[in-house]
Amino acid sequence: MEETIVAPATPAGRGGISVVRISGKGAKEVGLSLCGELPGSWSFKPCSISDGAGVLIDSGLVVFFGAPRSYTGEDVVEIHCHGNPVIVDSIVGASIFFGARVAEPGEFTKRAFLNEKIDLTQAESVADLIAAQTTSALVAAQSSLSGEFSRLINKTIDKVIAARVLVEACLDFSDEESVSVFESTKEEIVLCIQKGVDAVSLLLEGSRVGSKMREGLRVVILGPPNCGKSTLLNRLAREEVAIVSDSPGTTRDLLRVTLDLGGLPVEFVDTAGLRDDAHEEVEVEGMKRALSVLESADLVILMSCVGENFDPPTPPTAKTLRLFNKIDAHPNYAPSEPGEVFISALTGQGIEGFVSSVFSAFGVGSGIEVPVLARRRHVDGLEKSLAFLSSSLSFLNAGDDLVLIAEDLKEAQKHLGFITRPLTSDELLGHVFSEFCIGK
Ligand code: GDP
Repeated sequence: MEETIVAPATPAGRGGISVVRISGKGAKEVGLSLCGELPGSWSFKPCSISDGAGVLIDSGLVVFFGAPRSYTGEDVVEIHCHGNPVIVDSIVGASIFFGARVAEPGEFTKRAFLNEKIDLTQAESVADLIAAQTTSALVAAQSSLSGEFSRLINKTIDKVIAARVLVEACLDFSDEESVSVFESTKEEIVLCIQKGVDAVSLLLEGSRVGSKMREGLRVVILGPPNCGKSTLLNRLAREEVAIVSDSPGTTRDLLRVTLDLGGLPVEFVDTAGLRDDAHEEVEVEGMKRALSVLESADLVILMSCVGENFDPPTPPTAKTLRLFNKIDAHPNYAPSEPGEVFISALTGQGIEGFVSSVFSAFGVGSGIEVPVLARRRHVDGLEKSLAFLSSSLSFLNAGDDLVLIAEDLKEAQKHLGFITRPLTSDELLGHVFSEFCIGK
């Protein structure tokens, strides 16, 4: 981390201002060469920005953050210039001339992590915050960034440590003694591990929803031509996203639209209508695609008109929801089966109930509140930790060797610890930080 890095911190393009960020041991010197004398730490100063030949690039403001009280934990200089890409490029170019190099994507945040300003879940939430597509996702990312998720993980680790302390204490005795000490503390150990299991299970539940919230859900609408799939999509999107027409077979390809459904990004995929008598090559191809997309669906909506049956083959693992449309044309129709949803995509009748049903299909209440935007990596860590805790409990109940129990608890703790601060693996860090944009 000896090198000094530079990158624009604001997006490319023209605007009121742009910010160029410089971080590292040489940031002060590079800043000085560009802007003249720097202000004190955490202060702004008006400045003229000049290149290596002393030619004026722009006039603006410079702010200095002295290490370790900065985003990266290193000396940081930020130059606020006019929002013109030519000016920004010239400042970056001049910074390179004065000894900096261009930062890699996420490198500022990576340095913040390596300098222990933030842990890995917080670093990840910086990327999530920038990428958030719904207000709920934003709130969840803010919460993770503030350290809420890390705090919950650390509290859970404390529970596992408490169990480990008890088990290790038994192991400190000689073989005969350890048996009797173990007998007298067994109940306490079980209780302690059980608390760990409960805490991890709760976190896992929230993280699974959180990871869906981050990645979004894919809901596929499957139904015969003319049952109103496009009309439903338009109603949900509140704009004309799909062609609605009376002639069967209009929706020939997959139409995808991502909607904010009560805070959850949901990608709805409207499929080509399924018809047994489709002949046109393009229509047959559309149907093929419709069936193949089912493999990746989180929920398949089987849609038909009220009173019509529709039971296409779906993968055995697929979650399905039966939806009947055009209830407006059948005002006296009485639903027979529980779990069936009736709507009118045309008038909007029953749409709110339909949205709630989509949520409950995932075991989530409408308008979700999740404290974290978890990632697959977090879910994996929690699952592994839970598996080791459960295994330690079964060893305990079977009266097995305490050494095995101690080993399981150690592993359970290790996997929880990896979530916030993995023993640095370049591959993992490379993966996490590659998702960032330049300058963050
Ligand atoms: P798709 O082929 O499944 O996408 O069906 P469309 O959305 O194109 O709709 C086919 C026809 O049914 C259009 O004329 C729509 O206006 C009509 N339609 C769609 N939803 C409803 C509904 O809820 N009630 C009534 N009465 N007509 C509807």
